[in-house]
Amino acid sequence: MDSAKKLPVAVIGAGPIGLAAAAHLLERGLEPLIFEAGTTAGAAIEHWRHIRLFSPWRFNTDAAAVRLLEAAGWEAPRPTALPYGGELIDKYLAPLGALPQISSRLQTGARVTAVTRQGLDKTHIKGRDTTPFVVRVEHADGETRDHAVAAVIDASGTWSTRNPLGTSGLPAIGEEAAGERISAPLPDVTGRDRASFAGRRVLVVGAGHSAANTLINLADLAKEEPDTRILWAVRGATAEKVYGGGDLDGLPARGQLGGRVRRLVEAGKIELHTGFGISSIKSLDSSVTVSAVDGRTLEADVVVPCTGFRPDLDILRELRLNLDPAVEAPMELGPLIDPEFHSCGTVPPHGAKLLAHPDKDFYIVGMKSYGRAPTFLLATGYEQVRSVAAALAGDQESADTVHLDLPETGVCSTDAGTSCDVPATALPAEAAESGCCAAPEPVLVGFPTGLAHGRSGTSN
Ligand SMILES: Cc1cc2nc3c(=O)[nH]c(=O)nc-3n(C[C@H](O)[C@H](O)[C@H](O)COP(=O)(O)OP(=O)(O)OC[C@H]3O[C@@H](n4cnc5c(N)ncnc54)[C@H](O)[C@@H]3O)c2cc1C
Repeated sequence: MDSAKKLPVAVIGAGPIGLAAAAHLLERGLEPLIFEAGTTAGAAIEHWRHIRLFSPWRFNTDAAAVRLLEAAGWEAPRPTALPYGGELIDKYLAPLGALPQISSRLQTGARVTAVTRQGLDKTHIKGRDTTPFVVRVEHADGETRDHAVAAVIDASGTWSTRNPLGTSGLPAIGEEAAGERISAPLPDVTGRDRASFAGRRVLVVGAGHSAANTLINLADLAKEEPDTRILWAVRGATAEKVYGGGDLDGLPARGQLGGRVRRLVEAGKIELHTGFGISSIKSLDSSVTVSAVDGRTLEADVVVPCTGFRPDLDILRELRLNLDPAVEAPMELGPLIDPEFHSCGTVPPHGAKLLAHPDKDFYIVGMKSYGRAPTFLLATGYEQVRSVAAALAGDQESADTVHLDLPETGVCSTDAGTSCDVPATALPAEAAESGCCAAPEPVLVGFPTGLAHGRSGTSN
């Protein structure tokens, strides 16, 4: 990174991985400039602060960030405890973001809208590698400014770009116009969002853990607010994928969750509609009519889209990227995590080399680096940014020496289907052979689930 001495390194997003990237850059003597669209660090997690993580604290913090925090007197939470999203913010991300070393380099209310090379559009190659990047930012003061930087680390996650409700990867006809009737992907139906759901007809769309947890939490709400009606639409012919193996499930938490949903459906508390691929949504005065491809219709007051996420690639349009055509992850990473083929993908530790793009010194890290695959883990991202910071500092040996410390467990049954994400080396031999979803495991570590505070009844 030739211009590193003069220009800062832009970090897009102050989530856990963006802040960790900043900490590693600082340790390397590089100057991070963090742009965060939200008002605080951890702004995306703020939306799911009521959800409990499945990975314990010891896998949720970054080593360089912890070194910074401990130097300021921070005390680490109990390593084996499972935090809620809110605790991850309050006990880790907020204190980290408030450290003078970070806060002085963190701009909040700063949304990156484009990244390019100074004076060069995508088609120009001459001098590209040594030309600074330009990051265009919409600031909270209403001004849009261009910032010249030596390198860019895109840690902007995927939370703001959920998958559409329609089939074929496109929004259903009328979906955008019906926006007011469509909730956030993981609403706190028994807590802060209760008023929007109590006594309403709620249609949950999707067949992953997020859907399962939302359904269970809605069933809890319906006990107190009996007029609440719960509809559930899945694209598949059955909901077996969500039910899992019940008491016999290899993953106890998944089995409990799936078992509860099955019982609620069988008891008539949840109205299940299978084979319901959504084609259009029609807004009425205070409700919507949701139509399936086969002509069936459902009336609902609010729709909960548990359809997963995809990366926002629009802001990167002027860069030369090398992305897997299916997963939209860096080319070499894509096949390792593709949920279509990896019901139980094993992910070798990886860093700067695998995350590199034709545009030198540009990296996508964190949740966004997994593209449309839903199995990203924080620990994976922390190792990514350690390696990327080393590469940007010119320490290629350290950048190439990648390792991952993940629990000997799997991550299964996500929004995109069943998949697992652990490094091959972390799996017990029999699990690696049979697939980690079938392996015995003491703790479920994983993504996206959604245990609302004391509501869902699962034990993690
Ligand atoms: C419900 C749920 C539960 C999860 N549970 C676990 C778990 O138990 N264990 C685990 O390891 N992982 C878990 N994950 C997966 C993953 O670790 C988290 O999603 C994590 O938040 C990803 O961190 P990140 O920094 O990559 O992205 P994010 O946390 O999404 O942070 C991205 C940041 O970038 C900002 N941003 C977005 N666009 C822009 C822009 N254009 N300009 C400027 N800023 C922008 C956002 O506001 C946000 O603050 C879970 C995810 C979900 C959704």
